[in-house]
Amino acid sequence: MTVTLPSGESVPALGMGTWMMAEARSSRATEIAALREGLDLGLTLIDTAEMYGSGAAESLVGEALGGRRDEVFLVSKVLPSNASVAGTVRACEASLRRLGTDRLDLYLLHWRGGVPLSATVEAFAGLVSAGKIRHWGVSNFDLADMRELVALPGFCQTNQILYNLSRRGPEHDLLPWHASAGMPIMAYSPVEQGRLLRSPVLASVAARHDATPAQVALAWVLRLPHVNAIPKAGTVEHVRENARALELRLSTEDLAELDGAFPPPSGPGPLEML
Ligand code: NAP
Repeated sequence: MTVTLPSGESVPALGMGTWMMAEARSSRATEIAALREGLDLGLTLIDTAEMYGSGAAESLVGEALGGRRDEVFLVSKVLPSNASVAGTVRACEASLRRLGTDRLDLYLLHWRGGVPLSATVEAFAGLVSAGKIRHWGVSNFDLADMRELVALPGFCQTNQILYNLSRRGPEHDLLPWHASAGMPIMAYSPVEQGRLLRSPVLASVAARHDATPAQVALAWVLRLPHVNAIPKAGTVEHVRENARALELRLSTEDLAELDGAFPPPSGPGPLEML
């Protein structure tokens, strides 16, 4: 299952997140094994950020990639406090060093800060020209931010936002806007950092398919053709379980039951962030 970017490139619909990895030395080998298992299973989109562990997550990803860099669609993010023209270039070069690579496939502005958007976009364009990033995009942008962004020169490839069964606000206006613009969104925290997995409704839907609540939560996010999901899983077992979500097709009955427990938005609301 793939998602097509505005560039025309297809990327795996299901990838892997890395926030909270590299926090404890004792779990390092387990986390690296989890990421490598994901690559073996085709989850070759990896999301990281300079913010995660103040660079430690990027270093861990670099180690996990080993000689496999070319298999991966690698995503990292610049902090808004670094997002000036010169600061973005410096931050990108530091991310590349930690990741042990010469290019990112996608570089995102982590969220909007005080730097004018035009400066960050100018820096992204320079990084593309220099071959240090292949594509760029944004994260945590609401509809007004996206409209402002697309009026600037250049081609944003995605908007990484909080989207899962318990965070359906973007369905009101942001997701329809993205669908009509032909630009995917990348759903972060797709299992609500584990909180969704305790839902009896997810357990009930999962039971009908001999599946698990995590697989239901991920299959629900992936039901839309222009949405990526990037769950973070710190163990090989969780990665294997999540990868099997790609085989799960939710029925009309499943979707109705999930709508009952997690209703779609009835009107506009601010974009939520974690
Ligand atoms: P998440 O992926 O919704 O949840 C991660 C949590 O769920 C971890 O505790 C993980 O535990 C657990 N989990 C995953 N698969 C599981 C399974 N099959 N069974 C049981 N537990 C499972 O939350 P997230 O990490 O916040 O979001 C995912 C990624 O999105 C992040 O890692 C990061 O890359 C990105 N993100 C971006 C932003 C942004 O502002 N752009 C914000 C938040 C997140 P284990 O580790 O024990 O497997």
